[in-house]
Amino acid sequence: MSISPLLQDLENALRCLPGVGPRSAARMALHLLERDRDRGLNLAKTLQQALTEIEYCERCRNLTEIQPCRICQDDSRDQNLLCVVSSPSDILVIEQSGLFRGRYHCLAGLLSPLEGLGAQEIGLATLYERVLREKPDECLVALASTVEGEATTHQIVMGLEGSVCVTRLAQGVPVGGELDHLDISTLSQALTSRTEVQR
Ligand SMILES: [Zn+2]
Repeated sequence: MSISPLLQDLENALRCLPGVGPRSAARMALHLLERDRDRGLNLAKTLQQALTEIEYCERCRNLTEIQPCRICQDDSRDQNLLCVVSSPSDILVIEQSGLFRGRYHCLAGLLSPLEGLGAQEIGLATLYERVLREKPDECLVALASTVEGEATTHQIVMGLEGSVCVTRLAQGVPVGGELDHLDISTLSQALTSRTEVQR
């Protein structure tokens, strides 16, 4: 039983964040109320603004508040190299490596029949249409080495067969590894030593 219904509401709201249970939610709520009201208000304002204004890029599905996103608008980037990832967080980590100068296409996750995620749900048709329209020289499939990642890569290789050279990250991505858990040097190696997919 909380000392205030509003405080209880705040705790419940904080629990929408990953990894936040009842105890940490209570600790966060009390911290904001007792020690950090200004920054708490700033958090509320920024949260409101970000959730209202940030959308998916209509071209690549990166997160952005302008259409198309800054990466899609950047003419200095290589138009002929398209990197396929499964989440905007992967774009972030590849950008941090500073080694990739092409463009991205972000799927809405990986194929996962158990979660009801099929080709349509993750937007494979949009990728195929984009490749046919923009005709890049190379399509680098940079997905996790998990069962879902491998299945999705396989599906993309089949779907793009004949329309573009498909490559994938060669080394350094451990089996079962998620892209955004890699350290920068491992990711750099994986990006620079990519290989063409055997059909
Ligand atoms: Zn974009």
